[in-house]
Amino acid sequence: MRRLLIAGNWKMNHGPSQSREFGRDLKAKGLQDFSPEILLCPPYVSIQALRESLEGTPVQIGGQNLHQEPKGAYTGEISGEMLKEAGCVYVLIGHSERRQYFHETDDLVHAKILRAHDAGLIPVVCIGETLEERENGITKDVITRQLKGALEGLSPEIMKTLVLAYEPVWAIGTGKTATAGQAQEVHAMIRKILKESFSTEISENTRILYGGSAKPNNAEELLSEADIDGLLIGGASLKTEDFYTIIGIA
Ligand code: 13P
Repeated sequence: MRRLLIAGNWKMNHGPSQSREFGRDLKAKGLQDFSPEILLCPPYVSIQALRESLEGTPVQIGGQNLHQEPKGAYTGEISGEMLKEAGCVYVLIGHSERRQYFHETDDLVHAKILRAHDAGLIPVVCIGETLEERENGITKDVITRQLKGALEGLSPEIMKTLVLAYEPVWAIGTGKTATAGQAQEVHAMIRKILKESFSTEISENTRILYGGSAKPNNAEELLSEADIDGLLIGGASLKTEDFYTIIGIA
């Protein structure tokens, strides 16, 4: 049985004081009765404030990225070990914004997965096609390439915990959600690729989140699909009210 994971990716929003306020508000609403796993990925500098303000709740904290080396002369970068020490449990890897603006490749995503695992973090690996790729009918090729590039050669031990997030680039921050049917189709395809590349067990146990304009008004429909095991939420995770509503729906 795959436990739902509702994750918020705050991107470059919410500094320490706003994060603390968010954490306090969310905690005050009461989180103990919810069944999904809950994750928030704030900017690095806000990790501590958010973690402290949510102490005693089931909310887990994650990083939005990590460097592929454990330490060294990489000005401006953050290591998996540092995220772990700061209290992170998960880390996002290969978000489309990282691929687009910071030129992250499938090989780099693979290296980051290995590093995250070594640091004791659970990778949330993001994949997804652009609008042009979808319109050209190559969604399947793109997803297959991204999956193979990121995952090929990973040990069953890593695959057992790793989470995938399907985020069609054309649906991110655009208000244009993939329909539940469109998302389900790609999720089922991902599961099939996992089965062929790894095993039935890994295919059936790997959680695949959907991300891209997920909101309170479409969460239920998306989550009702058989192969959608949670959401990776951008904009709607920035407001306590919206995030709380989505957790309640799940
Ligand atoms: P939005 O929910 O703002 O479309 O962002 C999705 C996303 O990129 C989450 O990682």
